[in-house]
Amino acid sequence: MVERSAVKILVLDDESFMLKLLNRILSNLGYSSVILCDSGRAALEKIADVDAVPNVILLDLNMPEMDGIEFVRHLVDRHYPGSLILVSGEDERILQTTVKLVRAHKIPILGYLHKPVKPDALSELLESWAPSAAGAAGMAKKVYAADELRAAIEGGQLVNYYQPKVAVATGEVVGVETLARWRHPADGIVFPDQFIGVAEAAGLIDDLTKAVFAGAMAQAKAWQEMQLPLRVAVNVSMDNLASLDFLNFVAELAAKEGIAPQNVVLEVTETKLMQDTRAPLEILTRLRLKRFRLSIDDFGTGHSSLAQLRDIPFDELKIDQGFVHRAGTDETLRAIYDASLSLARQLNMEVVAEGVQDREDWDLLRRTGCDLAQGAFLSGPMLPEDVPGWMKLWRERVRTELFLTEDVRK
Ligand code: C2E
Ligand code: MG
Ligand code: MG
Repeated sequence: MVERSAVKILVLDDESFMLKLLNRILSNLGYSSVILCDSGRAALEKIADVDAVPNVILLDLNMPEMDGIEFVRHLVDRHYPGSLILVSGEDERILQTTVKLVRAHKIPILGYLHKPVKPDALSELLESWAPSAAGAAGMAKKVYAADELRAAIEGGQLVNYYQPKVAVATGEVVGVETLARWRHPADGIVFPDQFIGVAEAAGLIDDLTKAVFAGAMAQAKAWQEMQLPLRVAVNVSMDNLASLDFLNFVAELAAKEGIAPQNVVLEVTETKLMQDTRAPLEILTRLRLKRFRLSIDDFGTGHSSLAQLRDIPFDELKIDQGFVHRAGTDETLRAIYDASLSLARQLNMEVVAEGVQDREDWDLLRRTGCDLAQGAFLSGPMLPEDVPGWMKLWRERVRTELFLTEDVRK
């Protein structure tokens, strides 16, 4: 049993009246470690302080500036290790849908409360909170200093892994996505969630992306010479799209390695796209004019994405893995998956489903006519030297098992 006074709680609600009310209820229940925030922005600032990370957030869904769903997306980006309780005046159905959305992001939800909040109900939900092993591990994740990362980029400690993208209709391997890893001398392989954010915050993301891109182009050339013409995708941060320098770098390097722009895909994450302005738009448009392929990554997780799709000429839409795996059996996931697919169709974009983890996911893509698949069911990210061998095994799987499904109808 955890002491109530030891449970750190953050209450986020735009109405000061609600904040005061919830604070009083919590205090009466014996929860004394409470932070009150009246905007998503303020709450995110609080959470940035490692010592202040709450165990439970009471989240209002309807807020003017950043709404609750967008806030959750930011929690995911920051690997928030705690739990959530949703508080809202919305009807039951909207609350339930939101609960599913949040669970798709793997953030534990203790439950939801209707306004006006009843102290008993709140107490019951808070009682169900227990420090989780996953939460503790999440907290313990090491944060790397900018200087160490800078030295790593300069010293060539970043290594590119590649994950295949496959045409669902034929099984053909059409390309790979480049995923950066840091081969840390002491800590072993470090994943991007532990250093991309640091690179962005410390102004190192240009150097990082350039290093990854240069490696990817050299690799594309090597594959081309082996008669493996793979489209190579690289993840690009919004920050990279702030200067023309990046555009020139990409165009010159691809030309130098003899890689046609049509075989280079730049994956940009949707949430970061939303915030901004003219410069990225101009640079994306010019990359597109040069015939580089533009991909909107993690689609479905942001929320003003429709305007972006209208303004920027994307070639490819990647449905976020949170809406792919198990979409065959979960109605809410399926609704988002279907909507993304049909949106992409209407805009003439190629659709990639990310996070295809099992045979059921694969069969869903076949049934629904998704263009490309990516995920552990095919292969995780691998070193470039392993790609030709994997392709052989994959072709064997395609021939013998993957298209044998009994009943693949629309
Ligand atoms: P992303 O671009 O959406 O990449 C897909 C992520 O999902 C990768 O994680 C990949 O390993 C993982 N993944 C693929 N298939 C499955 C699956 O079936 N199940 C599950 N659970 N996961 C799967 P990774 O490599 O850890 O990368 C995380 C994110 O870091 C990427 O998300 C991307 O946004 C970012 N990132 C990676 N490399 C770079 C880079 O060079 N530059 C920038 N700016 N961002 C990068
Ligand atoms: Mg990506
Ligand atoms: Mg993605």
